[in-house]
Amino acid sequence: MKKLSLVIPCYNEEEGLLLFFEEVEKVRKNLPLEFEYLFVDDGSTDGTLKVLRTLEAEHSEEVHYLAFSRNFGKEAALYAGLQASTGDYVTLMDADLQDPPELLLEMYAKIQAEEVDCVAARRSDRSGEPFLRSLFSRLFYRIMNLISSTPVIDGVRDFRLMTRQMADSILELSEYNRFSKGLLTWVGYHTEYVAYENHERVAGKTSWNFWSLLRYSIDGFINFSEVPLIIATWSGIISTFLSLCAIAFLIIRQLFFHHSVSGWTSLTVIVIFCFGFTLMMLGIIGKYISKIFLETKRRPIYIVREKK
Ligand code: UDP
Ligand code: MG
Repeated sequence: MKKLSLVIPCYNEEEGLLLFFEEVEKVRKNLPLEFEYLFVDDGSTDGTLKVLRTLEAEHSEEVHYLAFSRNFGKEAALYAGLQASTGDYVTLMDADLQDPPELLLEMYAKIQAEEVDCVAARRSDRSGEPFLRSLFSRLFYRIMNLISSTPVIDGVRDFRLMTRQMADSILELSEYNRFSKGLLTWVGYHTEYVAYENHERVAGKTSWNFWSLLRYSIDGFINFSEVPLIIATWSGIISTFLSLCAIAFLIIRQLFFHHSVSGWTSLTVIVIFCFGFTLMMLGIIGKYISKIFLETKRRPIYIVREKK
């Protein structure tokens, strides 16, 4: 019998974990697969690890867990889970039941096809999501696809079933700055989608707020696109050219028409504009340099404190 590894990142999920496990067990009965649960406790501050220890004690055959020494983020947890997985198929799944386990049946049916390497879940709607959040998400996907050559599809979550081969390819991308939405498509392979309706989280609360999502989006742009740098370069060239023209014009006017000193306001405005603009561009460049900095340190992506 083939084996399926379930990689489940958990951050403060103590309330929903048991329910999650029960729901997945129900699905398991209908699948001709051996299961291997890989829970990754991403430095939770609640009782998540305790729940995982009990689960492991009761089902030591199939339940395994890793616990990080601190919160390293979902991307790191996914990477750790993938590294520990041994199954012929691997699935990435949230612990809050927002990724409906029943979908695994449909996904498994689809992945049987010769040419399919991955089946990903795609939300057909954004119901239950605040208006502004949905607006900004859409904007993010628009910009991302405009400036990056790695396509990122709106509504596709990390929830997916993939072959061992694809999982191994993802593991080969060992970069420190992990933007999984991009990494998962960067590796290529043939991906099919199954649509489903948005589900609310069963317990606990989301670890995302507006600012963390904004930071996440900027990370996505920077990690998967060089367009911000190109914009910086071109706007620098254009504004330098324009200001050179303006300087020539002013000198000629002064020499031939003896124009008296005026226009302090416009001058100040221009100076401030140039200054702000330069700082903004430096910021963009700095962002890339900080990524390089972190990457060259070759720090581990995560640190495991406990493993079973
Ligand atoms: N998660 C994690 N580390 C974090 C934040 C979240 O492992 O730092 C896990 C979390 O436990 C859940 C999944 O990632 O299983 C998705 O998190 P969340 O529900 O907060 O995100 P959303 O569903 O709102 O995108
Ligand atoms: Mg969630």
